[in-house]
Amino acid sequence: MLTGQTPILVLKEGTKRERGRGALSNNIAAAKAIADAVRSTLGPRGLDKMLVDSMGDVVVTNDGVTILKEMDVEHPAAKMLVEVAKTQDQEAGDGTTTAVILAGELLKRAESLIEQNIHPTIISQGYRMASQKALEVLNSISEPVKIDAVDTLQRVAVTSMSSKSVSFSRDLLADIAVRAIQAVAEKKGDTYTADLDNIQVIKKQGGAITDSQLIEGVIVDKEKVHSGMPARVEHPKIALLDAALEIKKTEIDAKIEINEPSQLNAFLQEEENMLRRMVEQVKKSGANVVFCQKGIDDLAQHFLAKEGIYGVRRVKKSDMEKLAKATGADIVSKVSELTPDDVGSAGLVEERKIGEDSLTFVTEAKNAKAVSILLRGGTEHVLDEIERSVDDALNVVAVAVEDGKIVYGGGASAEELALHLRDEAAKVGGREQIAFESFAEALETVPRTLAENAGLDPIDILIELRQSHKSGKKFAGVNVHGGKVDDMKGLHIVEPIRVGRQAIESATDAAVMILRIDDVIASKTTSPPAGGPGGGPGGMGGMGGMGGGDFGED
Ligand code: ADP
Ligand code: MG
Repeated sequence: MLTGQTPILVLKEGTKRERGRGALSNNIAAAKAIADAVRSTLGPRGLDKMLVDSMGDVVVTNDGVTILKEMDVEHPAAKMLVEVAKTQDQEAGDGTTTAVILAGELLKRAESLIEQNIHPTIISQGYRMASQKALEVLNSISEPVKIDAVDTLQRVAVTSMSSKSVSFSRDLLADIAVRAIQAVAEKKGDTYTADLDNIQVIKKQGGAITDSQLIEGVIVDKEKVHSGMPARVEHPKIALLDAALEIKKTEIDAKIEINEPSQLNAFLQEEENMLRRMVEQVKKSGANVVFCQKGIDDLAQHFLAKEGIYGVRRVKKSDMEKLAKATGADIVSKVSELTPDDVGSAGLVEERKIGEDSLTFVTEAKNAKAVSILLRGGTEHVLDEIERSVDDALNVVAVAVEDGKIVYGGGASAEELALHLRDEAAKVGGREQIAFESFAEALETVPRTLAENAGLDPIDILIELRQSHKSGKKFAGVNVHGGKVDDMKGLHIVEPIRVGRQAIESATDAAVMILRIDDVIASKTTSPPAGGPGGGPGGMGGMGGMGGGDFGED
């Protein structure tokens, strides 16, 4: 308002607007609140969170992305951090907490640089340069891993599960995860891709975690429809129908008018004949197992049983697709069009009782690139956390196999990167150098938080850690169980390179994006302004007036 004229209103009345430092510090505060919400869960000694939704449903977890997804985050900058966790989860499958606390730390340090009158643009540039360098160093300190390196891959899985409550049975789960990935991995040129869609995870409450197992084949969570059917079919011929083995009642209602009992009999007879012909068609195709995506009429069940055909009804579409892939069968949408060519095969179809339920197992399939993991656990909550852990394990093993590179965890890599960045900072010069150094310090939030969560003195640990790395101990990290600095390579704390790489990339992106915002314009909301999560410092409602000059850069 240098001109002293009446301000011209270009925004709708009720629009909230905040500019300059006010906007930025509000955004940073919200982002830090998100990072603080998950900090305490990092690492094997991190604690869990209990999340209770408005319906009273409870989730107990240690998984960063799950916590953030369940939280009702309102503030736009806080939402950007939740996105960091989601991206991390999609791209690397693990390291969500790490990515979020790194982004929070980058912003916290940016805030104090801004207080020293360093412009956000300069900070962003410094951060970008540092992140680039960090990625180079990460690559240079990584070690190769091959798909047949069972021990190393298992350690990758164990490390990812060590922060979960399932840690006592992680060796078994790690073994399952590695075998599953090895089974589905496909070689393309010199590298492998592992498509997790080929791995089906089925949870069945009851039993112990140790009853969990890997099945080479497809599990359909359904029993055979008729007790007279065989419970076991060796070398089955399998038909897949996306059609009902029943007669649509509406078709019949519309057409007939019954005047005497004989007509009714004739009608029922005709219905029976139609079903008989359907079953006849299945039999003619040579199939002795039929998976039906729709219903199977009682009478048809009876006919199938009499023919010794194993039948399952109302199979999920996704299961049908897995079955098609595994057995080589075509999914046929009209019973009358089913031919021997459409029928697939496997080594065995069998009904097995798991806990209370009977499930259908299709094993020794032609295409072995389909595996299933059957998870067991005492309660629903335990089972859910096992599923999240196995999901992490599958992801980390998959990306380790795909990239063929691993690094050491427990803060060892983070500290090594910090050391290199500090050395490099001198070459950067200018104001960016200060931001570059701040980036190095922010990386140390990983070992610092691991130490804190293990009840150790973070300052003592960091000092010792820095000294170790300076003296060439590249693998020195935080032994959270032993309570001291230790060799992470010796302790087999390994991670796929992609987890660290993605965390650095998305944390930098989010921090830079938030730092570049100097104007927040929010349209009038209908709901009352609420505070951010975890008592986060105010939602948009907490904005001050229209004050706020631009950043002075001198
Ligand atoms: P995230 O969501 O980031 O994966 P986690 O709670 O899974 O968070 O913790 C991961 C961190 O814990 C990584 O830095 C990893 O190296 C570290 N970590 C895992 N196992 C150990 C261990 N036994 N000792 C020390 N650090 C470990
Ligand atoms: Mg993890």
